[in-house]
Amino acid sequence: MGGSKINKAIFLDRDGVINKNIFNKNTGEFESPHRVKDFKIFPWVIDSLKTLEILGYKLFLISNQPSYAKGKTSLKNIKDIHKKLHGILIKNKIKFIEYFYCYHHPKGVVKKYSIKCKCRKPSPYFLNLANKKYNIDLSNSWIVGDRDTDVECGIKAGVKTILIKTKEESMNKKAGKSKPFYKAKNLKDAVKIIKKNDRL
Ligand SMILES: [Mg+2]
Ligand SMILES: [Zn+2]
Repeated sequence: MGGSKINKAIFLDRDGVINKNIFNKNTGEFESPHRVKDFKIFPWVIDSLKTLEILGYKLFLISNQPSYAKGKTSLKNIKDIHKKLHGILIKNKIKFIEYFYCYHHPKGVVKKYSIKCKCRKPSPYFLNLANKKYNIDLSNSWIVGDRDTDVECGIKAGVKTILIKTKEESMNKKAGKSKPFYKAKNLKDAVKIIKKNDRL
């Protein structure tokens, strides 16, 4: 009414949801890919994203990428990995309304990016920004991520939350502290949950 359209959205974490996390020998943990050749999307991702678009959701990426700030890779690698993702999505006619990346880390080694920023998850900064910029109804929107910080971010913003339980994250001793609305084994499974709960 009054020409104002209310949009519903899916805020997608990237690593562990869209693409595989990569084992880092130096830290003993699964992390974001640091090289283009390590960026591999899961086989069900394209169909899952198409289903979400058909259900009428606007797609957003919301991703912390602190590995340049931490001195683990170059900014160019991070940008090239993004270009690869964007290329795959374009080729498959999937439209993300905006990619929200936080490149900061409070305890990094690269000075410019080693700050206590306002955009790093679990801050709901980007979800609130999308709400204002694209008229997103957060109460009819979802976040899908594989870490507690994704769930905490979603709760703060007032969206529904799905935690993807990856093998890697279950090995992380610090994981499992958040309270998601739902748990799923992967994005395909998460889309089934969203479809079942879809109200608009
Ligand atoms: Mg993740
Ligand atoms: Zn940030």
